[in-house]
Amino acid sequence: MQLETNQRLELTERAAALTRNYERLRTHDLLRGLLTEDYPGRIGLVSSFGAEAAVTLHMVAEIDPYTPVIFLDTWKHFPETLAYRDALVTRLGLCNMQTVTPRPVHLEVEDPDGDLNARDPDRCCHYRKTRPMLQALRAMDCWITGRKRHQADTRRELTLFEVQDRWIKVNPLLDWTPEDVAAYYRAHDLPPHPLTSQGYPSIGCVPCTRPVAPGEDARAGRWADSEKTECGIHFENGKIVRGGT
Ligand code: SF4
Repeated sequence: MQLETNQRLELTERAAALTRNYERLRTHDLLRGLLTEDYPGRIGLVSSFGAEAAVTLHMVAEIDPYTPVIFLDTWKHFPETLAYRDALVTRLGLCNMQTVTPRPVHLEVEDPDGDLNARDPDRCCHYRKTRPMLQALRAMDCWITGRKRHQADTRRELTLFEVQDRWIKVNPLLDWTPEDVAAYYRAHDLPPHPLTSQGYPSIGCVPCTRPVAPGEDARAGRWADSEKTECGIHFENGKIVRGGT
């Protein structure tokens, strides 16, 4: 317990030091520093290949195309997302794409009929996203997200660096607006996700995503009929479903 407390303290101090070093840098310079100086070989980008994902993917590809890019294939994604993933990987020249999936043995027990998302979405996310992601991150000390403050009320307080379990997590786009993202796509001629033109500013699994109405938060279409706002990969391990590995 004491060791855990000390490790937690060390990570918290590390996050504070990284914030001091990086908070005034442009996003590209921030990512370059993390990828090449602070965490070379020990950092990955977790990407949903969603509506705004191409920004970080493009920057990472420019800096080091061998950076691990982790995609959590829940087996519930829109076919458009899978096609977009493949097209972007080819277009950007990403060389270390890692698509991770749930363990069939878990789903046979927990979700034999494939409807766990309707009965217990936290548990569904735990087996289809969180646990595969934690496995994929085992060799890393830091991971990059695409989260932004504008996306939802629940993300307004995002910080640049966070501590989650034993990882440093960085949110390099936290202050980017939809206009910033659109300008970046135009400047670099990046293709849009095919569903964005159909009213999907945030795209997850098919049963848990709907288009949003004008004026709604970008993430209002995610788990729209429940209190759930995050999939679980942004919570500390064990807070959603305890027990087992
Ligand atoms: S977003 Fe929905 S379908 Fe996807 S893992 Fe979570 S609960 Fe399951």
